[in-house]
Amino acid sequence: MDKARDLIRMGAAKAALLEPQEIITSEVEVRALVIGAGIAGLTAAISLANRGFPVILLEKEKELGGMLRSLYRLAPMDLDASEVINAKIKEAEDNPNIEIYTGATIEKVEGFIGKFDITFSANGTSKDVRLGVVIIATGAGNLVPEGMYQYDGNKVITQWELEERFKAGKVDANNVVIIQCVGARSPERRYCSRICCAIGIKNAILIKEMNPAAKVTILYRDLMMYGVENEDQLHKAKELGVRFVKYDSERPPVVEENKVTVFHHLMGKELEIPQEMVVLSTPLVGTE
Ligand code: SF4
Repeated sequence: MDKARDLIRMGAAKAALLEPQEIITSEVEVRALVIGAGIAGLTAAISLANRGFPVILLEKEKELGGMLRSLYRLAPMDLDASEVINAKIKEAEDNPNIEIYTGATIEKVEGFIGKFDITFSANGTSKDVRLGVVIIATGAGNLVPEGMYQYDGNKVITQWELEERFKAGKVDANNVVIIQCVGARSPERRYCSRICCAIGIKNAILIKEMNPAAKVTILYRDLMMYGVENEDQLHKAKELGVRFVKYDSERPPVVEENKVTVFHHLMGKELEIPQEMVVLSTPLVGTE
């Protein structure tokens, strides 16, 4: 009790000596910096620029567009990924309020919200700018499943590598097994990526549409196909003959030379599925 009284007395004595804080005013620099020119960065830059704010858009790669440049078609609306990203790039390039720099690296950041002093270099030239706000839209990468399910980037590939093959017109396997949740919802990465179920099913549909005789099997733990459009995609895949087999994370599928073995927990027995190509659905992971 004595200690509590002492603490209250000390607090009151200290409060009696306090003085009101000085109000600091500072001009806000009405200009934004967007770091990353993938679909998120481009959209942010265009939105700000369309409201009349000057924007500097930095991209570390030589080209704008980020991850979308390597994709083929977008689920669930079945849009051409190149058309979507090229239209956004053109909109940004045509906007007089957006200054774009590629091959860019941030060198120094100082200041505070409303007034940042930033130095960046782009294509060998260094530039100092003052800005009011910074938006970081550096996006995500796709997990490379080294050491998982015999991944070799050739016969066992990721969904991203499959997209590149679609773009190049190089998908001709007759027996395809797609394995979901590879490297996700595991002790290393507990989260669900939320998009790879839709990507896996979209790509299964594309394979069936290109080659109706192809046998496509999706091995899944759960199906995150939320929303009416995604559910329609799931029904469409089933109508086209895509086979779905649920597996248990305690007994994951085993990939061998020409087959995938999986324990079918409803049938209570192991299934052997012939394969010429295995596609692994891996989660998004943070980039630098
Ligand atoms: S495959 Fe489906 S359930 Fe698994 S992490 Fe991706 S979205 Fe989530």
